[in-house]
Amino acid sequence: MVLPSITKVLRQGQICNTCRILRHVLIAPNATEGIMKITIQHLTVSYFADSAAGTSIAIPLQFDGAQPNHFGTNKASHEPLRLAGFIGKTELGGSCNVDTLQIVPHCNGTHTETISHIVNDDIWIGHAAMDVCCMAVLISVPVVTATRTSEDYRPQLNNEDKLITAASLKAALRPFTELKPAALVIRTLPNTTTKRSQSYSAESSPAFLTVDAIKVINELGCRHLLLDLPSVDRMYDDGLLTNHHIFWNVPEKSHAMTADSWQDKTITEMAFIDDALADGVYLLNLQVPSFSGDAAPSRPILLPLQKTNG
Ligand SMILES: [Zn+2]
Repeated sequence: MVLPSITKVLRQGQICNTCRILRHVLIAPNATEGIMKITIQHLTVSYFADSAAGTSIAIPLQFDGAQPNHFGTNKASHEPLRLAGFIGKTELGGSCNVDTLQIVPHCNGTHTETISHIVNDDIWIGHAAMDVCCMAVLISVPVVTATRTSEDYRPQLNNEDKLITAASLKAALRPFTELKPAALVIRTLPNTTTKRSQSYSAESSPAFLTVDAIKVINELGCRHLLLDLPSVDRMYDDGLLTNHHIFWNVPEKSHAMTADSWQDKTITEMAFIDDALADGVYLLNLQVPSFSGDAAPSRPILLPLQKTNG
């Protein structure tokens, strides 16, 4: 196979079409070389995807720019490595660029987490999502206020809570009910670009899922849940993380897995799904680094899937 080559380098002042960041260096496959037509079989239907048609739904983490933030955590930051006789920055005379990073994956941007987020056991994110390509369904779901639903949450809902409901999910999933996708991607509406740099706090707390909604997702049977909210649970929820417990089938108020807990499931939070991606069926490539621990920054890639003829 011919490896893709770098076809375009953006100069200062140009904007990358992919992540809309200035001075970004875009590495894109050559238009004709190394592109694969990927054919997959899901249930009884064949689909194909173009390996060059992927779109990242990760929020680009700009260490020197605007970042999303949860709970007022320190910004993700980078520093040139400084050792005796060495500085990891060419602009400062170093022989190469070597950064030290400080990141809180759960709070600084798009990240993927395992069941270890809520249990004592080590299910490392670096060992998760080994089904590196799987079928995903992308749906768009409106955020509604708690006064407009009779659905439940633990702890009790407040009137001002903003919610993703089971009713909304069921309506959005209706065209895909027969598919049994391995992953579900939820774009919440309205889909404003402010999600790329939103600071979530007590004054601007994000939407979350009702208990009924997370049960709908469990009934769908998907292993990977991806969404543009910073959490499936309420920001201030008395530490219950009810929806996380239901999603992984861990008894509520417990940090112990059981034989029935779903260790292979992941949740990706604080993604951003551009409007250019239509609701529909995709091939998901969920990319996570090989870290120990419960969570890591991630870069989920969606490739549109089209049914093949015949
Ligand atoms: Zn998280």
